[in-house]
Amino acid sequence: MADENYKCTDYLGRTVIISEARAKRPRQFEISKPRKVVPPEKCYFCPGNEHMTPPETDRIPAEKSWFCRSFPNKFPAASPLWKEAYGHHEVIVETPDHEKRFSEIGEVQMQRFLLLLKRRVRALYKDKKVNYISVFKNEGLGAGASIEHSHTQLVALDFVPESIMEISRKQKEKEKYIKGAKKLLSNKHFFSCIPFCPRFHYETWIAPKKRLSCISKMNEKEIFSLSEILLKTIDAVDRKNSYPSYNILYFFAPPKDRKMSMHIEILPRLSTWAGFELAGSGYLNSVSPKNAHETLKQ
Ligand SMILES: [Zn+2]
Repeated sequence: MADENYKCTDYLGRTVIISEARAKRPRQFEISKPRKVVPPEKCYFCPGNEHMTPPETDRIPAEKSWFCRSFPNKFPAASPLWKEAYGHHEVIVETPDHEKRFSEIGEVQMQRFLLLLKRRVRALYKDKKVNYISVFKNEGLGAGASIEHSHTQLVALDFVPESIMEISRKQKEKEKYIKGAKKLLSNKHFFSCIPFCPRFHYETWIAPKKRLSCISKMNEKEIFSLSEILLKTIDAVDRKNSYPSYNILYFFAPPKDRKMSMHIEILPRLSTWAGFELAGSGYLNSVSPKNAHETLKQ
């Protein structure tokens, strides 16, 4: 297969140079499969250590224990006590199993996690001061995770970030952009795809087939449909890349927004943003969408 080298612009006007020629440059750093180093008895997020976290806000109960639980972040980015950075910062532990990666929790557990996520988003929006909830997951050191037990975070803010308003303004452009993406998996309500102008190697998106604003408005069937696509997509990204660090960003529409449709971005951190990216010149990606699609499709 010939190298693909070209420049493209995504729906937000971000320029990416796809340069597969760069993938051939010598690498002196190996990416190795991460191992869990903290024993469960010392893990803040493991069953039996609930006293190590702030008081629980919700849980999906299991007999004598739990399947998923949520609680305030001990080291918050926003707090109801802070006037200048008002908000809430919560953690959802997606699995009681310390050893499991997010891609390994199984479909029923993924459903439980998404149902709890829906409940927490709804609960946090009950605070009238909250205008937006940022939901994300950092998997692995390279993606900014500080605790290795798999978890997702919610930061409820008293403002709607400018970047979200811009995504909403560009909804039409986003729809066109997604239409041009290479499809990976599809079921009744959702599909996953490789966008045309990805900033990250193997960057993968998940989007609904019809407009859906936020998980808080999704019914059970839609949540189960999302569980299946999310799990299978993450599993492909994980296995094809030797279990990389990655971020999952959930772009939900703000409650009063009538235009924006949700989407999810899975961003594997297989390369580090360096001078070119930090200078704002654009982004370099040495895996073309075509190549990423062929690899993940397998
Ligand atoms: Zn643990």
